[in-house]
Amino acid sequence: MGKPTGFMEINRRTVPYRAPNVRIMDFDEIYTAPDIVRLQTQGARCMDCGVPFCQSHTGCPIDNLIPEWNDLIYNGHWKRAFDRLHKTNNFPEFTGRACPAPCEGACVLGITNPPVTIKNIENAIIDRGREEGWIVPQPPKTKTGKTVAIVGSGPAGLTAAQQLARAGHTVTVYERADRIGGLLMYGIPNMKLDKDLVEARVAQMRAEGVRFRTNINVGVDFTVDALRQDYDAVILAIGSTRPRDLPIPGRSLQGVHYAMEFLTANTKSLLDSNLEDGNYIDAKDKNVIVIGGGDTGTDCIGTSIRHGCKSVVNFELLDRPPNDRADNNPWPQWPRIFRVDYGHAEAEAVFGEDPRTYAILTKEFIGDKHGNVTGLKTVNIEWTVPEDGSRPSFKEVPGSEKTWEADLVLLSMGFIGPEKTIAQQLGLKEDTRGNIKAEHGDFETSMKGVYAAGDCRRGQSLVVWGINEGRGVARAVDLALMGTTELTAPASA
Ligand SMILES: Cc1cc2nc3c(=O)[nH]c(=O)nc-3n(C[C@H](O)[C@H](O)[C@H](O)COP(=O)(O)OP(=O)(O)OC[C@H]3O[C@@H](n4cnc5c(N)ncnc54)[C@H](O)[C@@H]3O)c2cc1C
Ligand code: SF4
Repeated sequence: MGKPTGFMEINRRTVPYRAPNVRIMDFDEIYTAPDIVRLQTQGARCMDCGVPFCQSHTGCPIDNLIPEWNDLIYNGHWKRAFDRLHKTNNFPEFTGRACPAPCEGACVLGITNPPVTIKNIENAIIDRGREEGWIVPQPPKTKTGKTVAIVGSGPAGLTAAQQLARAGHTVTVYERADRIGGLLMYGIPNMKLDKDLVEARVAQMRAEGVRFRTNINVGVDFTVDALRQDYDAVILAIGSTRPRDLPIPGRSLQGVHYAMEFLTANTKSLLDSNLEDGNYIDAKDKNVIVIGGGDTGTDCIGTSIRHGCKSVVNFELLDRPPNDRADNNPWPQWPRIFRVDYGHAEAEAVFGEDPRTYAILTKEFIGDKHGNVTGLKTVNIEWTVPEDGSRPSFKEVPGSEKTWEADLVLLSMGFIGPEKTIAQQLGLKEDTRGNIKAEHGDFETSMKGVYAAGDCRRGQSLVVWGINEGRGVARAVDLALMGTTELTAPASA
């Protein structure tokens, strides 16, 4: 513990983002470089708890050794902190930027004070490591002669690939997109996670022996059975890519898109041509309505504003969350409270108000005679939350109908599971939510030698859970192939 009285003397100070009205002029990252002295002082706020809830199952899903690196950076031991960080996390620059930080929600200091700035500290350690050139390939000393195919290159697939390659296996990653990274590449926008960071890890992994094959749609270009014959094990890390639809009148009008159509095309065009090829859905001068919140909704808002939209509104079906934890949401649970994410702050800076409207239901899209969307109709709703814990329900508020102008509507209502092609080809069992059935721990599907990890197994989730499952499945596969393993995996399931 760096400073026993640190938590009493020092206030929480986070590393600020760039000013909203400046950062919306480009797609560069929203972050500023931390003041290192101040950040080290933040590390001194950590109480080195006897039971560090930050790294428990309600906190960090990959068991990051948080109190250890808080102490190390307070004392200026950056390289040791960097090494500690990599013991549990293959890609801290992804989580340091994009993770919602359940560790901070579970931090013991958070019971009485604002929690330790764990996420800022993690990000600063890995950025220091990048600047110092500490991230180097770690190829295995010996090869096992075993081969593993991984389908999908999101955080789960990449983590599994890195772990298994370092264990000496020959790993090939198949990805249907033209770039590696899954949602790290084509979901989370560049301003939240610079794509050079993803490319740098891909280069590191190539040097560690991982083979990447892009533009290959497994199950379509060839059957997954062919992979089973060619490899000793197959890992499915294909994500949860089926978007939830809104099948109401007018859904087929032009200008109504899934959020991922909008975000993917934008990042691809940005990387291919700095948006000069025009191969993206342009929000410029449009009235944009984003239906659904979460990270995806925020990313749609931030991207629309960077295009120069005329207005942006965000519909949320649920009520506005409370400013502070509700009684039924105590520490150390993830705090379900009102937050202002980067896109909301940008909308406020440009249009003078938060873009979110709560407890609102879209009833119909309306269009012109050319089939273009021109607006939509909504009604306000009222939620009832039963005290016995059963499912909340809502009813429409009579007389609250409203018509909104819209030239571009983005559907951001979550994902309902993995695509079925591969699972059907192999006859894999599904769980009750339509995900590929496999137990956390051994990760094997109903077919021997075929494993599933990440969002395709657990449902729509977070980058940090992708890393959790990637490390877990790598351990399970190594154990199955070799009869023993030295790979470690997080305990949280
Ligand atoms: C817009 C958006 C923003 C998000 N923001 C955040 C955030 O800020 N923080 C956070 O923690 N989480 C965020 N998430 C969630 C997070 O990105 C996912 O939980 C995570 O990427 C899941 O990892 P995965 O490896 O399981 O799958 P994915 O990242 O979805 O990767 C799956 C890959 O498999 C490929 N694939 C699928 N089928 C095939 C096939 N048949 N053949 C070949 N390849 C195939 C896909 O092309 C894809 O590249 C966000 C999600 C979205 C959609
Ligand atoms: S719970 Fe918070 S104060 Fe305690 S060890 Fe973890 S980061 Fe430090």
